[in-house]
Amino acid sequence: MPNIVVIGAGVSGLTCALLLAKQKGNSVTVVAKHMPGDYDIEYTSPWAGANVLPMALERDSRWERRTWPELRRLAAEVPEAGLHFQTARVLRRQKDVAAGNLQVALADGLFQLSPWYKELMDHFREIPTDQLPPGMHSGCEFTSVCINTAVYLPWLVGQCARLGVRFKRATLKHVSEAAAAAGGSSSGLKVDVVVNASGLLACRLGGVMDTKVYPVRGQIVVVRNEAEGIMPTSSGCEDGEDEIVYVMQRALGGGTVLGGTYMKGNWEPNPDPNTAMRIMKRAVEMHPELTGGKGVEGLDIIRHGVGLRPAREGGVRIEKEVIDGTWVVHNYGHAGWGYQGSYGCAERVVELVDEIVGKGKRTSKLWNK
Ligand code: FAD
Repeated sequence: MPNIVVIGAGVSGLTCALLLAKQKGNSVTVVAKHMPGDYDIEYTSPWAGANVLPMALERDSRWERRTWPELRRLAAEVPEAGLHFQTARVLRRQKDVAAGNLQVALADGLFQLSPWYKELMDHFREIPTDQLPPGMHSGCEFTSVCINTAVYLPWLVGQCARLGVRFKRATLKHVSEAAAAAGGSSSGLKVDVVVNASGLLACRLGGVMDTKVYPVRGQIVVVRNEAEGIMPTSSGCEDGEDEIVYVMQRALGGGTVLGGTYMKGNWEPNPDPNTAMRIMKRAVEMHPELTGGKGVEGLDIIRHGVGLRPAREGGVRIEKEVIDGTWVVHNYGHAGWGYQGSYGCAERVVELVDEIVGKGKRTSKLWNK
Protein backbone atom coordinates (compact mmCIF):
# COMPACT_ATOMS: atom_id res chain seq x y z
CA MET A 1 0.00 0.00 0.00
CA PRO A 2 1.75 3.26 -1.10
CA ASN A 3 2.24 5.71 1.79
CA ILE A 4 1.75 9.27 0.59
CA VAL A 5 2.30 12.40 2.67
CA VAL A 6 0.80 15.66 1.45
CA ILE A 7 2.45 18.82 2.81
CA GLY A 8 -0.21 21.54 2.95
CA ALA A 9 -3.90 21.86 3.80
CA GLY A 10 -4.81 24.67 1.43
CA VAL A 11 -7.07 24.04 -1.53
CA SER A 12 -4.15 22.49 -3.45
CA GLY A 13 -3.08 20.00 -0.76
CA LEU A 14 -6.63 19.04 0.23
CA THR A 15 -7.75 18.44 -3.37
CA CYS A 16 -4.65 16.28 -3.97
CA ALA A 17 -5.32 14.33 -0.76
CA LEU A 18 -8.94 13.77 -1.79
CA LEU A 19 -8.12 12.47 -5.27
CA LEU A 20 -5.23 10.33 -4.00
CA ALA A 21 -7.44 8.82 -1.29
CA LYS A 22 -10.05 7.92 -3.93
CA GLN A 23 -7.42 5.69 -5.55
CA LYS A 24 -7.78 2.24 -4.03
CA GLY A 25 -4.77 1.17 -1.99
CA ASN A 26 -3.29 4.58 -1.23
CA SER A 27 -2.63 5.54 2.38
CA VAL A 28 -2.67 9.35 2.67
CA THR A 29 -1.62 11.70 5.48
CA VAL A 30 -1.84 15.50 5.31
CA VAL A 31 0.78 17.40 7.31
CA ALA A 32 0.32 21.16 7.62
CA LYS A 33 1.27 24.17 9.64
CA HIS A 34 -2.13 25.76 8.93
CA MET A 35 -5.49 24.03 8.61
CA PRO A 36 -9.00 25.19 7.61
CA GLY A 37 -10.31 27.43 10.37
CA ASP A 38 -7.00 29.33 10.63
CA TYR A 39 -6.59 32.85 9.25
CA ASP A 40 -2.91 33.61 8.73
CA ILE A 41 -0.93 35.64 6.21
CA GLU A 42 1.13 32.51 5.38
CA TYR A 43 -2.05 30.58 4.47
CA THR A 44 -3.68 31.87 1.29
CA SER A 45 -6.71 29.67 0.70
CA PRO A 46 -9.16 31.11 3.29
CA TRP A 47 -8.72 34.64 1.90
CA ALA A 48 -9.77 33.87 -1.68
CA GLY A 49 -13.12 35.10 -3.03
CA ALA A 50 -13.29 32.56 -4.59
CA ASN A 51 -14.81 32.35 -8.02
CA VAL A 52 -14.06 30.98 -11.49
CA LEU A 53 -12.81 33.55 -14.01
CA PRO A 54 -10.60 31.60 -16.45
CA MET A 55 -7.20 33.30 -16.48
CA ALA A 56 -4.85 31.12 -18.49
CA LEU A 57 -3.98 31.50 -22.12
CA GLU A 58 -5.37 28.66 -24.21
CA ARG A 59 -2.04 26.80 -24.31
CA ASP A 60 -1.99 26.61 -20.49
CA SER A 61 -5.71 26.02 -20.01
CA ARG A 62 -5.57 22.33 -19.00
CA TRP A 63 -5.87 22.99 -15.25
CA GLU A 64 -8.91 25.25 -15.53
CA ARG A 65 -10.59 23.17 -18.25
CA ARG A 66 -10.31 19.99 -16.18
CA THR A 67 -11.51 21.69 -12.99
CA TRP A 68 -14.64 23.44 -14.20
CA PRO A 69 -16.85 20.32 -14.66
CA GLU A 70 -16.32 19.28 -11.03
CA LEU A 71 -16.92 22.75 -9.55
CA ARG A 72 -20.08 22.99 -11.67
CA ARG A 73 -21.21 19.58 -10.39
CA LEU A 74 -20.58 20.58 -6.78
CA ALA A 75 -22.60 23.79 -7.24
CA ALA A 76 -25.47 21.87 -8.83
CA GLU A 77 -25.57 18.74 -6.68
CA VAL A 78 -23.71 19.21 -3.40
CA PRO A 79 -25.08 22.27 -1.56
CA GLU A 80 -23.11 21.49 1.62
CA ALA A 81 -19.83 22.07 -0.27
CA GLY A 82 -20.55 25.82 -0.24
CA LEU A 83 -20.61 26.74 -3.94
CA HIS A 84 -23.36 28.51 -5.86
CA PHE A 85 -23.90 29.62 -9.43
CA GLN A 86 -23.40 33.28 -10.22
CA THR A 87 -23.14 35.24 -13.47
CA ALA A 88 -19.60 36.42 -14.20
CA ARG A 89 -19.43 39.78 -16.01
CA VAL A 90 -16.03 40.53 -17.58
CA LEU A 91 -15.66 44.12 -18.85
CA ARG A 92 -12.91 45.35 -21.19
CA ARG A 93 -12.15 49.05 -20.91
CA GLN A 94 -11.84 51.13 -24.08
CA LYS A 95 -8.41 52.44 -23.02
CA ASP A 96 -7.05 48.93 -22.34
CA VAL A 97 -8.24 47.63 -25.71
CA ALA A 98 -6.82 50.71 -27.46
CA ALA A 99 -3.46 50.23 -25.71
CA GLY A 100 -3.44 46.50 -26.45
CA ASN A 101 -3.20 46.01 -22.70
CA LEU A 102 -5.59 43.14 -21.99
CA GLN A 103 -3.10 40.78 -20.32
CA VAL A 104 -3.34 42.26 -16.84
CA ALA A 105 -2.80 41.04 -13.27
CA LEU A 106 -1.48 37.64 -14.41
CA ALA A 107 -4.96 37.00 -15.85
CA ASP A 108 -3.53 36.63 -19.33
CA GLY A 109 -6.56 35.06 -20.97
CA LEU A 110 -9.50 36.54 -19.05
CA PHE A 111 -10.00 39.77 -20.98
CA GLN A 112 -9.26 38.47 -24.49
CA LEU A 113 -11.66 39.75 -27.14
CA SER A 114 -12.47 36.21 -28.25
CA PRO A 115 -11.54 34.05 -25.26
CA TRP A 116 -10.95 30.30 -25.51
CA TYR A 117 -13.25 29.73 -22.52
CA LYS A 118 -16.35 30.78 -24.46
CA GLU A 119 -16.58 27.10 -25.48
CA LEU A 120 -16.17 25.92 -21.87
CA MET A 121 -18.41 28.13 -19.77
CA ASP A 122 -22.18 27.79 -19.91
CA HIS A 123 -24.41 30.59 -21.24
CA PHE A 124 -21.46 32.57 -22.62
CA ARG A 125 -22.56 35.74 -24.42
CA GLU A 126 -21.01 39.00 -25.51
CA ILE A 127 -22.81 41.92 -23.87
CA PRO A 128 -24.65 44.10 -26.43
CA THR A 129 -22.87 47.45 -26.85
CA ASP A 130 -25.89 49.48 -25.72
CA GLN A 131 -25.86 47.62 -22.37
CA LEU A 132 -22.23 48.41 -21.53
CA PRO A 133 -21.26 50.88 -18.79
CA PRO A 134 -19.54 54.11 -19.93
CA GLY A 135 -15.87 53.72 -20.89
CA MET A 136 -16.19 50.03 -21.78
CA HIS A 137 -15.20 48.72 -25.20
CA SER A 138 -16.93 45.36 -24.75
CA GLY A 139 -17.65 42.64 -22.27
CA CYS A 140 -18.94 39.12 -21.83
CA GLU A 141 -21.07 37.18 -19.36
CA PHE A 142 -21.23 33.50 -18.50
CA THR A 143 -22.36 31.19 -15.73
CA SER A 144 -19.69 30.68 -13.11
CA VAL A 145 -19.58 29.78 -9.42
CA CYS A 146 -18.58 31.51 -6.23
CA ILE A 147 -17.10 29.35 -3.47
CA ASN A 148 -17.55 30.13 0.20
CA THR A 149 -14.03 29.12 1.25
CA ALA A 150 -15.00 29.05 4.94
CA VAL A 151 -17.41 26.22 4.07
CA TYR A 152 -15.57 24.56 1.18
CA LEU A 153 -12.19 23.98 2.87
CA PRO A 154 -13.71 22.19 5.92
CA TRP A 155 -15.94 20.25 3.51
CA LEU A 156 -12.80 19.02 1.71
CA VAL A 157 -11.32 17.96 5.08
CA GLY A 158 -14.52 16.02 5.81
CA GLN A 159 -14.48 14.29 2.42
CA CYS A 160 -10.85 13.31 2.99
CA ALA A 161 -11.54 12.04 6.52
CA ARG A 162 -14.38 9.87 5.20
CA LEU A 163 -11.87 8.19 2.88
CA GLY A 164 -9.42 7.56 5.73
CA VAL A 165 -7.00 10.46 5.23
CA ARG A 166 -5.15 11.34 8.46
CA PHE A 167 -4.32 14.91 9.45
CA LYS A 168 -1.28 16.08 11.42
CA ARG A 169 -0.21 19.55 12.50
CA ALA A 170 3.49 20.19 12.03
CA THR A 171 5.84 22.83 10.72
CA LEU A 172 8.48 21.23 8.54
CA LYS A 173 11.87 22.81 8.09
CA HIS A 174 12.71 20.38 5.29
CA VAL A 175 10.65 18.07 3.03
CA SER A 176 12.64 15.14 4.41
CA GLU A 177 10.85 15.64 7.77
CA ALA A 178 7.49 14.70 6.22
CA ALA A 179 7.67 11.01 7.12
CA ALA A 180 8.49 11.63 10.79
CA ALA A 181 5.77 14.29 11.01
CA ALA A 182 3.19 11.94 9.47
CA GLY A 183 4.01 8.83 11.46
CA GLY A 184 5.58 10.14 14.64
CA SER A 185 9.36 10.26 14.98
CA SER A 186 9.68 6.73 16.37
CA SER A 187 7.31 5.13 13.84
CA GLY A 188 9.91 4.46 11.15
CA LEU A 189 7.10 5.07 8.61
CA LYS A 190 8.34 4.48 5.10
CA VAL A 191 6.98 7.13 2.78
CA ASP A 192 6.76 6.37 -0.93
CA VAL A 193 5.86 9.85 -2.15
CA VAL A 194 5.66 13.35 -0.64
CA VAL A 195 3.32 15.79 -2.36
CA ASN A 196 4.53 19.34 -1.84
CA ALA A 197 1.54 21.71 -1.79
CA SER A 198 3.13 24.32 0.45
CA GLY A 199 1.94 27.37 -1.52
CA LEU A 200 3.88 30.56 -0.92
CA LEU A 201 6.06 28.89 1.71
CA ALA A 202 7.68 26.76 -1.02
CA CYS A 203 10.20 29.61 -1.07
CA ARG A 204 11.24 28.73 2.51
CA LEU A 205 10.82 24.95 2.71
CA GLY A 206 14.17 23.15 2.98
CA GLY A 207 14.94 20.95 -0.02
CA VAL A 208 12.77 23.19 -2.22
CA MET A 209 13.64 26.85 -1.41
CA ASP A 210 12.17 27.99 -4.72
CA THR A 211 13.47 31.52 -5.34
CA LYS A 212 10.99 31.94 -8.23
CA VAL A 213 8.04 32.01 -5.80
CA TYR A 214 6.78 35.43 -4.73
CA PRO A 215 3.63 36.90 -3.13
CA VAL A 216 1.01 38.91 -4.95
CA ARG A 217 -0.78 40.81 -2.22
CA GLY A 218 -4.56 40.89 -2.40
CA GLN A 219 -6.43 43.24 -0.09
CA ILE A 220 -10.19 42.72 0.23
CA VAL A 221 -13.25 44.04 2.04
CA VAL A 222 -16.02 41.58 3.00
CA VAL A 223 -19.47 43.16 3.30
CA ARG A 224 -23.00 42.03 4.17
CA ASN A 225 -24.46 43.70 1.05
CA GLU A 226 -25.65 41.43 -1.73
CA ALA A 227 -24.49 41.51 -5.34
CA GLU A 228 -27.73 40.10 -6.82
CA GLY A 229 -26.17 37.19 -8.63
CA ILE A 230 -23.63 39.20 -10.66
CA MET A 231 -19.83 38.99 -10.29
CA PRO A 232 -18.43 41.96 -12.24
CA THR A 233 -14.77 42.67 -12.94
CA SER A 234 -12.97 44.96 -15.33
CA SER A 235 -9.66 45.00 -17.21
CA GLY A 236 -8.34 47.89 -15.17
CA CYS A 237 -9.12 50.86 -12.95
CA GLU A 238 -7.97 54.44 -12.52
CA ASP A 239 -6.21 53.82 -9.20
CA GLY A 240 -2.98 52.30 -10.49
CA GLU A 241 -1.66 49.16 -12.13
CA ASP A 242 -1.53 47.13 -8.94
CA GLU A 243 -5.18 47.79 -8.09
CA ILE A 244 -8.07 45.81 -9.59
CA VAL A 245 -11.83 45.68 -9.22
CA TYR A 246 -14.14 42.74 -8.64
CA VAL A 247 -17.23 41.81 -6.64
CA MET A 248 -18.37 38.31 -5.69
CA GLN A 249 -21.04 37.09 -3.32
CA ARG A 250 -20.17 33.89 -1.50
CA ALA A 251 -22.66 31.05 -1.11
CA LEU A 252 -24.50 30.23 2.14
CA GLY A 253 -24.38 33.69 3.74
CA GLY A 254 -20.61 34.06 3.37
CA GLY A 255 -20.89 37.78 2.58
CA THR A 256 -19.74 39.62 -0.53
CA VAL A 257 -16.02 39.99 -1.27
CA LEU A 258 -14.91 43.33 -2.75
CA GLY A 259 -11.46 43.43 -4.30
CA GLY A 260 -8.83 44.30 -4.60
CA THR A 261 -5.18 44.70 -5.20
CA TYR A 262 -2.53 42.81 -7.17
CA MET A 263 0.75 43.90 -5.55
CA LYS A 264 3.66 41.79 -6.75
CA GLY A 265 6.42 41.09 -4.25
CA ASN A 266 4.52 42.80 -1.41
CA TRP A 267 4.43 40.82 1.90
CA GLU A 268 2.52 43.45 3.96
CA PRO A 269 -0.07 41.52 6.05
CA ASN A 270 -2.14 44.45 7.32
CA PRO A 271 -5.01 46.07 5.38
CA ASP A 272 -4.34 49.67 4.39
CA PRO A 273 -7.33 51.96 5.15
CA ASN A 274 -6.81 54.19 2.11
CA THR A 275 -6.65 51.17 -0.17
CA ALA A 276 -9.81 49.82 1.49
CA MET A 277 -11.64 53.05 0.76
CA ARG A 278 -10.61 52.90 -2.91
CA ILE A 279 -11.69 49.25 -3.15
CA MET A 280 -15.15 50.06 -1.77
CA LYS A 281 -15.55 53.14 -3.98
CA ARG A 282 -14.62 51.23 -7.12
CA ALA A 283 -16.93 48.31 -6.25
CA VAL A 284 -19.93 50.57 -5.69
CA GLU A 285 -19.22 52.56 -8.85
CA MET A 286 -19.01 49.38 -10.94
CA HIS A 287 -21.97 47.70 -9.24
CA PRO A 288 -24.30 50.33 -7.66
CA GLU A 289 -26.84 47.56 -6.92
CA LEU A 290 -24.65 46.67 -3.90
CA THR A 291 -26.02 49.60 -1.90
CA GLY A 292 -29.18 50.41 -3.85
CA GLY A 293 -27.69 53.72 -4.98
CA LYS A 294 -26.57 54.82 -1.48
CA GLY A 295 -22.87 54.88 -2.41
CA VAL A 296 -20.02 53.73 -0.16
CA GLU A 297 -21.91 54.80 2.97
CA GLY A 298 -24.43 52.07 2.23
CA LEU A 299 -21.84 49.30 2.63
CA ASP A 300 -22.09 47.16 5.78
CA ILE A 301 -18.53 45.93 6.49
CA ILE A 302 -17.88 42.50 8.03
CA ARG A 303 -14.08 42.65 7.90
CA HIS A 304 -11.01 43.82 6.03
CA GLY A 305 -8.44 41.24 4.94
CA VAL A 306 -5.21 40.55 3.11
CA GLY A 307 -4.12 37.34 1.40
CA LEU A 308 -0.90 36.63 -0.46
CA ARG A 309 -1.34 34.80 -3.76
CA PRO A 310 1.45 32.26 -4.28
CA ALA A 311 2.83 33.32 -7.67
CA ARG A 312 5.85 31.87 -9.43
CA GLU A 313 8.05 33.13 -12.28
CA GLY A 314 7.44 30.71 -15.15
CA GLY A 315 4.11 29.61 -13.69
CA VAL A 316 2.84 26.74 -11.57
CA ARG A 317 5.26 23.89 -10.71
CA ILE A 318 3.76 20.42 -11.12
CA GLU A 319 6.55 17.88 -11.50
CA LYS A 320 8.36 15.08 -9.71
CA GLU A 321 11.91 14.96 -8.41
CA VAL A 322 13.95 12.98 -5.88
CA ILE A 323 14.99 14.96 -2.81
CA ASP A 324 17.31 13.26 -0.31
CA GLY A 325 16.28 9.84 -1.60
CA THR A 326 12.50 10.43 -1.47
CA TRP A 327 10.19 11.05 -4.41
CA VAL A 328 8.50 14.46 -4.19
CA VAL A 329 5.67 15.65 -6.44
CA HIS A 330 5.38 19.43 -6.43
CA ASN A 331 2.09 21.30 -6.81
CA TYR A 332 2.54 24.97 -5.94
CA GLY A 333 2.61 28.45 -7.47
CA HIS A 334 -1.06 28.84 -8.46
CA ALA A 335 -1.14 32.64 -8.06
CA GLY A 336 -4.77 33.82 -8.35
CA TRP A 337 -6.30 30.62 -9.76
CA GLY A 338 -5.73 27.94 -7.10
CA TYR A 339 -9.43 27.05 -6.73
CA GLN A 340 -10.42 27.21 -10.38
CA GLY A 341 -7.46 24.98 -11.30
CA SER A 342 -7.53 22.72 -8.24
CA TYR A 343 -8.96 19.49 -9.70
CA GLY A 344 -6.97 19.71 -12.93
CA CYS A 345 -3.69 20.14 -11.01
CA ALA A 346 -4.54 17.42 -8.49
CA GLU A 347 -5.38 15.06 -11.36
CA ARG A 348 -1.85 15.60 -12.74
CA VAL A 349 -0.41 14.97 -9.26
CA VAL A 350 -2.22 11.62 -9.15
CA GLU A 351 -0.75 10.73 -12.57
CA LEU A 352 2.77 11.53 -11.33
CA VAL A 353 2.27 9.59 -8.10
CA ASP A 354 0.98 6.62 -10.11
CA GLU A 355 4.12 6.74 -12.27
CA ILE A 356 6.31 6.70 -9.16
CA VAL A 357 4.57 3.87 -7.32
CA GLY A 358 4.35 1.87 -10.53
CA LYS A 359 0.58 1.70 -10.77
CA GLY A 360 -0.61 1.27 -14.32
CA LYS A 361 -4.19 2.12 -14.95
CA ARG A 362 -6.28 3.98 -12.43
CA THR A 363 -8.32 1.69 -10.25
CA SER A 364 -11.09 4.12 -9.48
CA LYS A 365 -12.58 7.34 -10.77
CA LEU A 366 -10.71 10.48 -9.71
CA TRP A 367 -13.88 12.37 -9.07
CA ASN A 368 -17.57 12.00 -9.72
CA LYS A 369 -18.07 13.46 -13.15
P1 FAD B 1 -2.14 27.71 0.77
O1 FAD B 1 -3.59 27.90 0.87
O2 FAD B 1 -1.29 28.86 1.21
O3 FAD B 1 -1.76 26.43 1.61
C1 FAD B 1 -0.41 26.08 1.88
C2 FAD B 1 -0.40 25.00 2.92
O4 FAD B 1 0.93 24.53 3.09
C3 FAD B 1 -0.85 25.47 4.31
O5 FAD B 1 -1.60 24.48 4.97
C4 FAD B 1 0.47 25.68 5.03
O6 FAD B 1 0.36 25.61 6.45
C5 FAD B 1 1.26 24.51 4.47
N1 FAD B 1 2.70 24.65 4.62
C6 FAD B 1 3.52 25.48 3.96
N2 FAD B 1 4.79 25.32 4.38
C7 FAD B 1 4.75 24.36 5.33
C8 FAD B 1 5.75 23.76 6.15
N3 FAD B 1 7.03 24.12 6.06
N4 FAD B 1 5.37 22.82 7.04
C9 FAD B 1 4.07 22.44 7.14
N5 FAD B 1 3.10 22.99 6.39
C10 FAD B 1 3.43 23.93 5.48
N6 FAD B 1 -8.20 31.57 -6.64
C11 FAD B 1 -9.24 31.21 -7.43
O7 FAD B 1 -9.23 30.14 -8.02
N7 FAD B 1 -10.33 32.03 -7.56
C12 FAD B 1 -10.41 33.24 -6.92
O8 FAD B 1 -11.41 33.96 -7.04
C13 FAD B 1 -9.32 33.63 -6.09
N8 FAD B 1 -9.38 34.81 -5.44
C14 FAD B 1 -8.34 35.16 -4.61
C15 FAD B 1 -8.43 36.35 -3.89
C16 FAD B 1 -7.44 36.70 -3.01
C17 FAD B 1 -7.55 37.99 -2.23
C18 FAD B 1 -6.33 35.85 -2.83
C19 FAD B 1 -5.26 36.19 -1.83
C20 FAD B 1 -6.22 34.66 -3.54
C21 FAD B 1 -7.22 34.31 -4.45
N9 FAD B 1 -7.15 33.15 -5.21
C22 FAD B 1 -8.21 32.76 -5.99
C23 FAD B 1 -5.93 32.31 -5.24
C24 FAD B 1 -6.02 31.12 -4.32
O9 FAD B 1 -6.47 31.53 -3.06
C25 FAD B 1 -4.64 30.46 -4.21
O10 FAD B 1 -4.13 30.15 -5.49
C26 FAD B 1 -4.75 29.18 -3.40
O11 FAD B 1 -5.41 29.40 -2.20
C27 FAD B 1 -3.37 28.56 -3.12
O12 FAD B 1 -3.61 27.41 -2.35
P2 FAD B 1 -2.44 26.49 -1.84
O13 FAD B 1 -3.10 25.32 -1.22
O14 FAD B 1 -1.47 26.27 -2.94
O15 FAD B 1 -1.68 27.38 -0.72
